[in-house]
Order: sequence, then C-alpha cells, then structure tokens
Amino acid sequence: MGIKNGDQYVDRLRQMKRNVYVRGKTVPRDDPLFSSALSITRLTFDAAFSDAYRPLVVTKSHLLGEEINRFNHLHQSPDDLLRKQEMVRVLAPLAGGCIQRCMSNDVLNALGIVTKEIDEAKGTEYHDRFLQYVKEYQKNDLIAAGCQTDVKGDRSKRPHQQVDPDLYLRIVEKRRDGIVVQGAKMHSTIAAYVDELLVIPTRALTPQDEDWAVAFAIPADTEGIKLITRVTAPRGRIECKAPYSETAGWADSVTVFDHVFVPNERVFMCGEREFGARLALLFANNHRHSYTGCKPGVTDIIMGACALAAEYSGVGNAPHIRDEITELMVIAELVYASGIAASVKAKQTSSGIWEPAFLYSNTGRYLAGKNIYHEYDTLTSISGGLPSTLPFEEDWLNPETRGYLEKYMMRNPEVTADKQHRLFRFISDFSCSAVGGVMQYAGVHGGGSPIMELIGIRSQYDLESRKKLVRHLAGIEEYDTETKKQLARNLAHMDD
Ligand SMILES: Cc1cc2nc3c(=O)[nH]c(=O)nc-3n(C[C@H](O)[C@H](O)[C@H](O)COP(=O)(O)OP(=O)(O)OC[C@H]3O[C@@H](n4cnc5c(N)ncnc54)[C@H](O)[C@@H]3O)c2cc1C
Repeated sequence: MGIKNGDQYVDRLRQMKRNVYVRGKTVPRDDPLFSSALSITRLTFDAAFSDAYRPLVVTKSHLLGEEINRFNHLHQSPDDLLRKQEMVRVLAPLAGGCIQRCMSNDVLNALGIVTKEIDEAKGTEYHDRFLQYVKEYQKNDLIAAGCQTDVKGDRSKRPHQQVDPDLYLRIVEKRRDGIVVQGAKMHSTIAAYVDELLVIPTRALTPQDEDWAVAFAIPADTEGIKLITRVTAPRGRIECKAPYSETAGWADSVTVFDHVFVPNERVFMCGEREFGARLALLFANNHRHSYTGCKPGVTDIIMGACALAAEYSGVGNAPHIRDEITELMVIAELVYASGIAASVKAKQTSSGIWEPAFLYSNTGRYLAGKNIYHEYDTLTSISGGLPSTLPFEEDWLNPETRGYLEKYMMRNPEVTADKQHRLFRFISDFSCSAVGGVMQYAGVHGGGSPIMELIGIRSQYDLESRKKLVRHLAGIEEYDTETKKQLARNLAHMDD
C-alpha cells in the first residue's frame, strides 16, 4: 500500500493479460516497443521518490489521511489546482512535452463532482461508490487512461441517429450485478500500459441517447477489451544518447469493448443522460486546465531550442530572432496565466471538489492550440533546414565521414561541432520526426479541438453585458446605480 515507484508499477503491468495489439500481434505491456513511453509513466511514479520533484508530486489524501501521488488526488482547494498545474509544467517538458498521466486525474475529479450531482438529483448512490473506488485507487497508487472520445461516426448525428449504434459506447444489457457495454473509444493515450480505464461520455445526450449515458472504471485487461495500439517512439540513438531520445515516446489505442461486463461497484453513471454534457464538459475543463501546465512546458522546450539554435549559429542577438523568442514567452505565460486564473477563480462543488473556472481553462487551452504550429514555425525558421536534412548518426560515427561533418557542421566557433550536432539532432527528433508530428496534432486536438473551446467559451460568455456597455458609451441607454454596479460585476467576472 501507499506510494509506488516505477518498478512496482511495471511489475503490475507484467501480471496483466495480453490484450494489446501492435502491428498484427499481441504484445506484453512491458514490450521493448513501449520502453520510451513507459519511461514517461515511470517518471510520474519515481518523481515521488526524487528530492527534486517530491514536493510537487506528493500530497495528502483527504480520503485516506495518508500521502499519495498527486496524480491520484481529488482537488480540495484552489491551491491543489495550482499545484497540479505546476507539477504538469515541470514534468511534461522532462517527458518531451506530454506527461500522459494527467488524463486520469482529470477524469477522477470530473467523476467525483458529477457522481455527487447525479445522487442529489436522482437519489442514486454513485458518489459513495466512487469514493470507495478512489480509496482503493489511491492506496494502490494505480494509473488509468481516460477514455472519453468515442469513434463518433457521422459527426453531424447524435448517438441514437448513427447507422451503427456502437459508434458511441453504450449499455447493451443491464443485469442485477452490473452492466454490459459495447463500442469503442478512440485515441486512448497510455491505455496500453495502465491498470485501469476510466470511461465517460463524449457529448451532450438527448432523451433518446439514454443507453449511451454511461461512465465506469474497468481493469484494462478485462475480458472483451482489445487495445489496438499505435506506438510512437523517438528515433533510436547508437552512441549519442540523450534524455529526450530515451523518454519521449507514447502510445494511443483504439479501445474496443466487445460485450464487456462492468460490475455495479464500478459503474458511476447508467442512463442519467441529463448529466452527459456536464460530465463531458467537466472532464474537458479539468483536462484543459492540465494543458495550461503542459503546453507552456512544450513552449519552454521550443523557446530553449530556438535560443540555442540562434546562439549556436551566431545570430543569438539578431533583433528579429529576439522578438520571435519573446513572442514565445508571451504565449507560454499567457497560457500558464489562464490556468492560474482558472485555479484562483475555481468554485467548490457540492462534492467538496474544486472545479477550475471554465472560462480561463478554455481560453488558455484555445490560445495554446491555435499557436502550436506557429511555435513550431518559429523553431523551423530559426533552426534553418538542418534538422530536416541532418545525416544519420552512423555517418557521424563513421571515421571516414566524421571529419567532414565536424568541419562543415561548425557555425559559431565558440560552440564545438559535437554540441552543434547534438542540438540539431535533438531539434530534428523533436520537430520533424514521427514523435514531433504526433505532438503537433496533440497540441491541436488533445483535450478537445480549438473549435470546441470556442463553442464552450461562447456558450458561457456574457456578451450581453458588453452590448450593454456599448449602449451606454454610445448614448443609446442610461443606467441607474444598481444597473451600473451589476454591469461592473459582470464585466469584471466578479460573480463568476
Ligand atoms: C495525440 C492525441 C491524443 C489523444 N488522447 C486522448 C485520450 O487519451 N483520451 C480521449 O478520450 N481522447 C483523446 N484524444 C482525442 C481528442 O480529444 C480528439 O482528437 C478531439 O476531441 C477531436 O475529436 P476527433 O479527433 O474525433 O476529431 P473530429 O471529431 O473528427 O473533429 C475534427 C473537426 O471536425 C469538425 N467537427 C467535428 N464534429 C463536428 C460537429 N458536430 N459539427 C460541426 N463540426 C464538427 C470540427 O471542425 C473539428 O475540429 C487525443 C487526441 C490526440 C490527437
């Protein structure tokens, strides 16, 4: 019991049944294919034992009264949200840009809030059931994938309107002791190397969509679950080993549920379709808040790489480059500031769990998503073409060609050819490789595509107050003191 280290976590994976499919066959969860991906999830465990990171990663459970890993914590204050954001900002760049374990924390917090709200509205007993589950989860220091995104079929249609009802995961049978579910979730990051899957709906659900209103937790190797997995690992290195090339991998799965039985004690929503939207949005809100930690972390890497590339090329002081890098600072810190605002303006829910302020987590995530290709564009521009044409490491190591490469790779004479080579190989791996490509897509769509944040922001934003303000400025309307006071409150989000 208690906080586990990375070895203990991987030992657990070794005990699991084989249901992970990669390149046409099943593979064990500790297959070398996953070594770089596993090094990231391991980091989230080992950080709890590291003098450098322990203060970020260890906290006290309000349920157990014991120390736990913060990735398993239910936020008990705005400060908890701030600490999570800081933890993610520090660990994500160490992992090459995505720390991967925040998903589970974000689903746990969303479920903690919604199970209570369903109970209050419907007289159900999901919340206690959920807290029992979380206690075991925390005691054993488990790790889970968040499986929200359904395959969704025709995007213009609701679940019950799809030609195949399994295009959104649904309940196909209710038994006395549990439910049977059928369908698939897409893009499930880390599902291939976790203990548990946490499953929640993707979207708002209509009265005809009751069968699709389902949330539960399930061991990832349960009978009927198949994880069809695509692994993305950094390019291997022969001698020029570097932390990034050992740690920046990940894997995402098409997570198939083929008639999977879920016992009652693991079911947290079963037909309460009115809460589909609340649960989907709450998870998105928490996850977008996590993004306000990791995305500035990605920008930290891009910014550092830009500055070093410029320095190594002898143009570190060029005014246009300094401006471009300063703009990266602005993006990183505005995104980070949104997360801080979302924490400071968080609200306590009836469950006692604090919910980030939706407006700020969404504006931050939107800003990050819209800028991701711009940031890579800045890196590409400052780095020149070398990251895309750099010869193979074998040619750097070959005595016949090494001398030429050393001679012709030199730029700023104060920086050795070896350092030049290492930096540009890193930039190549980070920005124009399979991992780099996935990171760019993740930067846009992870946690919800930018359009989803816009829809969310617009639906909650008080545009009427801004119109009211302009009616005043234009002399169209005059307001009494009470109206002015309320308008002031609305404009400054004092009541939010
Ligand atoms: C690397 C990566 C990792 C991820 N990890 C996870 C994970 O661990 N767990 C998880 O649950 N999800 C995960 N996701 C999924 C992510 O949340 C989705 O990619 C995102 O929500 C977009 O959904 P989609 O990919 O199905 O795109 P689509 O739904 O196909 O959206 C593409 C575009 O289509 C348009 N569109 C879609 N629906 C509509 C509509 N109804 N009306 C009008 N226009 C529409 C929008 O312009 C949208 O931008 C991950 C995604 C990526 C890229």
